[in-house]
Amino acid sequence: MSSKRLTAVAGDVQIGGDSPIVVQTMCNTHTYDVEETVTQCIRMRDAGARLIRITVPGLNEIPHLQAIRDRLREAGVSTPLVADIHFSSETAIAAARIVEKVRINPGNFHKDHQQAREQFLRFLDVCKEYGTAVRVGLNHGSLGAYITDLYGNTPLAMAKAAMEWLQMCIDQDFFNVVVSLKASNTLVMVEAYRLLEKMMEEKGYVFPVHVGVTEAGNGDSGRIKSCVGISTVLSEGIGDTIRVSLTEDPVHEIPVAAYLADRYRQKVFSSLTAVSIEGRKAIATYAAPSRERLLLDLSCDFGKRLLDRELDEVSFQGTYQDDNGCPVSIDKAFSDYLSDELLQACRRRFYRPEYIACPGCGRTMYNLQEAFEAVKARTAHLGNVVIAVMGCIVNGPGEMADADWGYVGEGNRKVTIYKGKEPVLRHVPETEAVDRLVELIEADRR
Ligand code: SF4
Repeated sequence: MSSKRLTAVAGDVQIGGDSPIVVQTMCNTHTYDVEETVTQCIRMRDAGARLIRITVPGLNEIPHLQAIRDRLREAGVSTPLVADIHFSSETAIAAARIVEKVRINPGNFHKDHQQAREQFLRFLDVCKEYGTAVRVGLNHGSLGAYITDLYGNTPLAMAKAAMEWLQMCIDQDFFNVVVSLKASNTLVMVEAYRLLEKMMEEKGYVFPVHVGVTEAGNGDSGRIKSCVGISTVLSEGIGDTIRVSLTEDPVHEIPVAAYLADRYRQKVFSSLTAVSIEGRKAIATYAAPSRERLLLDLSCDFGKRLLDRELDEVSFQGTYQDDNGCPVSIDKAFSDYLSDELLQACRRRFYRPEYIACPGCGRTMYNLQEAFEAVKARTAHLGNVVIAVMGCIVNGPGEMADADWGYVGEGNRKVTIYKGKEPVLRHVPETEAVDRLVELIEADRR
């Protein structure tokens, strides 16, 4: 049976089909701060975002969401808005009457799975009436026992869970749907999207796909990890809209996402000038127009081949241009650094702790970017350990996936420290929390 490739429409943006890959991002402002959120949305629109997501923690935020939308439209900003909803199906239903698209994880609509299904049907009815698009957005680590009891916390479980909700959409004759399966672990994320695409093809309905690596962190690591995961999936023809999640000003996400969107629509080409392969090791030569471009190019050129174990090692040579346009040689130290970062992003070799850090959103309880930098600075010597730094106590613990340790903002300048999924220290003042985390990790190793 040939499968039907579907498209979704949010406002004036089509997702899927022959449309360009849609670049999107998400506000990290508090939604109740209408002024700041509107200002950030305008900056995002100006930087090239074609969809903007805003967290809506509960019904109390619905009037703020309405105000943000009204203010943007009055200012002539027509960029479609996406409400990001967790746990509250009533909030999702209310938001579907206001904005062009709503992202939900229907599995957390209700603790009782049958009731979650019933609420999902109510939600779809409202979306149908208002012409609202839906993203069924599942993340590794927050799947729910009903599915992990059957399949473990695996890519298969992620794809199976998504298919259940997509089948409900098909049964309701509702097709204005996008689906995502994000993970911080690039191997898990890539495998989940591959399985999902195969299952949708077998079902006969291929919904548009939103691709992203969640909680990728910041700086070079965040960019390399995001490009490895997203480019692998896009190179296989999977993906219609993307978000690069960085624990930075969200405007910084947009050039990275735009690069990926352009690259997989053949509008931009790698600065790789030569590559020689010896056994399973590649030596790559670049003439990159900037340092950032070098990072993005090499992640896309070699990420998939390292993830899929076609290659074991890559070293780099050649040049990139500095901010003044002068060529800088890629010396051995920089090549080793790039190789270490790339192999870590592909989960082939761990030369430093693996960090999971959410990008922050309107739920964030503290200065996430500062906290993440402090945790990185104090734990860099700890070697092979996975540390999550999460912005809120509501979603953070569920989304830390396979982290060994979690550092989670509680609000009121307090932090909870987790060992795996268990909170081991609560209400730790922010000023002491990094010390306590390091002590716990070191004590655990003795
Ligand atoms: S974990 Fe981070 S991105 Fe996710 S809801 Fe909480 S603050 Fe927002």
